[in-house]
Amino acid sequence: MIEISNLSKAFSDKPVLENLSTSIKQGEVVSVIGPSGSGKSTFLRCLNLLEQPTSGKVTVNGIDITGENVDMLKLRSGIGMVFQHFHLFPHLTVLDNITYAPRTVKGMDKTQAERAAYDLLQKVGLTEKAASYPNSLSGGQKQRVAIARALAMQPKLMLFDEPTSALDPEMVKEVLEVMKDLTETGMTMIIVTHEMSFAKEVADRILFLDEGKLVEDARPSEFFKEPSTDRAKSFLAKVL
Ligand code: ADP
Ligand code: MG
Repeated sequence: MIEISNLSKAFSDKPVLENLSTSIKQGEVVSVIGPSGSGKSTFLRCLNLLEQPTSGKVTVNGIDITGENVDMLKLRSGIGMVFQHFHLFPHLTVLDNITYAPRTVKGMDKTQAERAAYDLLQKVGLTEKAASYPNSLSGGQKQRVAIARALAMQPKLMLFDEPTSALDPEMVKEVLEVMKDLTETGMTMIIVTHEMSFAKEVADRILFLDEGKLVEDARPSEFFKEPSTDRAKSFLAKVL
């Protein structure tokens, strides 16, 4: 589903990602971990062209995103992204947040979009909040709406960038549970997280980044038990 070959990204000559290569299969759940500043967000953002790779070849959902004349709308409508800070539309109700893109981008009719939105709200446990505005929700509820909103476009791939990092501790679990349910539907997911026990439990594979380099690409059972590099060992020693 994703083929990455020698992906590099620099910001005004400062290398941030260097020669990353890996591939991700449909239905795989991949967790990206690594120290702050190691390039995790930049990596995710390159996959939907929120950042333009400096070099390398990347194919996502059959689209060569490093080629000429990329169909940005087609690329992005196949990828859902969930950020640390929810980015909900503050002036729209929860229901309208979820139906906005399907209606405006996909031209879905109102009734159909709302029916789908209620199904998603049920999945994330928030049907009773359909008419509420984002500012009346807790952080955990906002993030669950953000996940429902991303899913409303029926993406083939979901990217999560530290979805629980901005939440109060008691709200982390409800968001992780929604994500865990999603892993069980066969969704392809790339999750940047500092929740090591979650990564260990749900990921099929761990990508460990350090200083812009993909230092380890391993199964969680191997990575958490016996990381093969000193850099991963010292990282784990700090976070576990
Ligand atoms: P992480 O998500 O692992 O914390 P990032 O991908 O956000 O790391 O950042 C990696 C490096 O790239 C950092 O040194 C950061 O300062 C730099 N960086 C990220 N975005 C930009 C940008 N738009 N312009 C310049 N430097 C950036
Ligand atoms: Mg980041």
